[in-house]
Amino acid sequence: MKSVKGTRDLLPRDTYLFQQLEQGALVHFARYGFREIRTPIFEETQLFLRGIGDETDIVSKEMYSFEDKGGRSITLRPELTAAVCRAVIQHQLVGPTDIVKLMYMGPMFRYERPQAGRYRQFYQLGVEVFGSDDPLIDVETIEALMSFIQPYGLPNLELIVNSVGDSTDRPAYLAYLREALDDVRDQLCNDCQTRMVRNVLRVLDCKNENCQSLFGELRPISDFLSHENRQHFEAVCNGLSQLGIPYRLNPKLVRGLDYYTKTAFELVSGDLGAQSAVMGGGRYDNLVQTLGGPATPAFGWAMGLDRMASLLAARGMEEKGPDLFLVFGERSWLDQALPWIVKLRHQGLEVTYDLRVGSFKSQMKRANRENARWTGIIGTAEWANGTVSMKHMATSEQTTLARENVAKFIEEQHA
Ligand code: AMP
Repeated sequence: MKSVKGTRDLLPRDTYLFQQLEQGALVHFARYGFREIRTPIFEETQLFLRGIGDETDIVSKEMYSFEDKGGRSITLRPELTAAVCRAVIQHQLVGPTDIVKLMYMGPMFRYERPQAGRYRQFYQLGVEVFGSDDPLIDVETIEALMSFIQPYGLPNLELIVNSVGDSTDRPAYLAYLREALDDVRDQLCNDCQTRMVRNVLRVLDCKNENCQSLFGELRPISDFLSHENRQHFEAVCNGLSQLGIPYRLNPKLVRGLDYYTKTAFELVSGDLGAQSAVMGGGRYDNLVQTLGGPATPAFGWAMGLDRMASLLAARGMEEKGPDLFLVFGERSWLDQALPWIVKLRHQGLEVTYDLRVGSFKSQMKRANRENARWTGIIGTAEWANGTVSMKHMATSEQTTLARENVAKFIEEQHA
């Protein structure tokens, strides 16, 4: 038996990268006031129909929906913004003057065509800010993202921003698009012909080169933005510049979910092939109300952890080995040394050994393979006088210590 098409096992070499991101995120985003929320893996299908928009690809083609034994229509969450809004409304987390910052991480499910970097179960880490339409929130929340990924030193990442307007100005742009595209309708790909009827804004991010060449002359949405929305967008762009965050304006950037208003943005990588989006997000000032809550402007983004992890792996980030690998001259010495080994672990060290206690050579080989920082060799002389010969694996430097001093020694070396 194998894992289901489009799903995969995350093995320790993968989970190590995920944990780096997840644990780093909890610390980093706490500094901005984000607290974690965990919502169920499945929700009522209705939530996503109303929240994401029934003409979107996600809702029309990609949802894992089923009827449970009680006859309810259930859907495995394809994204979390709608579910977080549902929780915010249900628990009345946002009062009229509150700003609430939530973060989440976990698996999402979409029935997409699997390919490199695209899975049917994938993982997202995301943040949502509820309660303000101030452009400062957009700037601050994008900055939080950029400074989160900055220490990983990933090259070829580009922040792309746009404003998709809202109900005050977008309808005029949609009407313009329909009219402008009407003449070339027959030359558009099948998907775009459908989008023209169902969700015309989405034609702009069609990947088909022929379609894109036909869109060259189209006016950008920025020509249509209301005074207020234009001001908002300018404030976001100025704020990013003030913080020294490079970005590129792309008037054709539209997101795959209907709920976005005003600011929309994506972070794309030149190192990921066709699935180049590492994360995406924006403002969604109407979603909470659409889902039955009070008028609550909001802003958020979601990062694809699978894609981030593959970028980290390509940069050579890998699991570190144990602090100490112990090599014994005799198997019986290992048995007798067990209380000491346990104590080292209680003192905070990662300690491993080869249970079979073969030849020195085979044990050293294994220490190398496990990428141990130190190897502690206990041969006849060391066993007799209660010492360990500590070999630093990267430099091959060696020094002999009393056994009880090992934990302190390693701690000092790595301080
Ligand atoms: P979205 O919710 O569509 O805005 O996606 C946000 C991010 O999640 C994307 O930029 C990707 O990094 C990631 N993502 C979305 N769908 C998938 C998928 N099927 N497989 C892997 N990552 C995905």
